[in-house]
Amino acid sequence: MKLERPDSAGRFGSFGGSFAPETLMPALTELERAFTEAWGDPSFREELDGLLASFVGRPTPAHRATRLSDRLGIDLWLKREDLAHTGAHKINNTVGQGLLAKRMGKPRIIAETGAGQHGVATATAAALLGFECAVYMGEKDIERQALNVYRMELLGTEVIPVTSGSGTLKDAVSAALRDWVASVENTHYIIGSVVGPHPFPWMVREFQKVIGEELQGQLDGSKGHPRPDVIVAPVGGGSNAMGVFYPYVGDTSVRLVGVEAAGLGIETGHHGASLGHGSPGVLHGAMSYMLQDAEGQVLEAHSISAGLDYPGVGPEHSYFKDAGLVEYDSVSDTEAVGALHLLSSTEGIIPALESAHALAWITREAASLSGKTVVLNLSGRGDKDVQQVAAFDG
Ligand SMILES: *Cc1c(COP(=O)(O)O)cnc(C)c1O
Repeated sequence: MKLERPDSAGRFGSFGGSFAPETLMPALTELERAFTEAWGDPSFREELDGLLASFVGRPTPAHRATRLSDRLGIDLWLKREDLAHTGAHKINNTVGQGLLAKRMGKPRIIAETGAGQHGVATATAAALLGFECAVYMGEKDIERQALNVYRMELLGTEVIPVTSGSGTLKDAVSAALRDWVASVENTHYIIGSVVGPHPFPWMVREFQKVIGEELQGQLDGSKGHPRPDVIVAPVGGGSNAMGVFYPYVGDTSVRLVGVEAAGLGIETGHHGASLGHGSPGVLHGAMSYMLQDAEGQVLEAHSISAGLDYPGVGPEHSYFKDAGLVEYDSVSDTEAVGALHLLSSTEGIIPALESAHALAWITREAASLSGKTVVLNLSGRGDKDVQQVAAFDG
């Protein structure tokens, strides 16, 4: 059974919790109290709904992929998160947390980013709401993602290079946490997915579940609008999948499938399939499935898609997996690139590589899905990935 809220220790069954430094505990408790109060306050909801409509561009459409439906022998619909402002679902969460920080009276926002997508979404919300904003980013990622660094700077955010460790996402997470420990009086830390210590996984789910709630109204079983038989979404940290799944979890007439990155192939060890091929452990403040060796050392993930290249996953997904409420499978880099080509040339939509993973699962399973109404959560647009796909194709 799905839980409205995690228990008083922030757990979804045996997953979740808050494994954080003692110095952060008061901040996490304050955040839980502030979010609970704001979420129950109609004036906060009204302000957020207003921004989701006029700034983010919600509701995003549910679009029937007619040519691809014919080709695959299924009734395929796309939930168009790629049409949200900044080109992906991440903005739903950053605008929500931004409004919450404003309500808490904190003038400064920090975040960490890997490829830069969450950094840009955070910088966008910060500019909208008038915050001072700093984004931590590994120096290697800064080199690889120069365009996103410049976007954040245009938006008035300071990008702080992290030179420790391997100079990538996990070092940026540590640096952002160090900043927060020292600055929590005046600073809110915006985590970008349904991960981290309680209350983040629950709060980010609440901000993202608007995706599935809209879909319930769009494909409601009335004329010309079938109800979904299957909903498929990519899973990195798990926020877009959680957002589209959550309202349907427990409805036994709808099959829910989360698709992780099989990278170069599960057997090579270079993948991002924490749910499918990991084991429970503590990463970034919560108990969840993760990629680790026999000694509990975190393993590096691999995916062609930056958003799926993460060795952990949100704790509520771990709960859903063990409870049998959602299925999880994986597809490889090669399959995802193939699906990106397919959607681009048959539907006129270049999907993000993350979203292409979910489509690749649908095409692989098309024969067994014959005649069914299938919804693909198109989590983002693919403009950011075009160069990488060109390089992959050689
Ligand atoms: C970041 C990102 C993802 C992965 O993050 P989740 O928290 O799993 O949703 C998926 N798709 C796109 C387009 C992204 O930018």
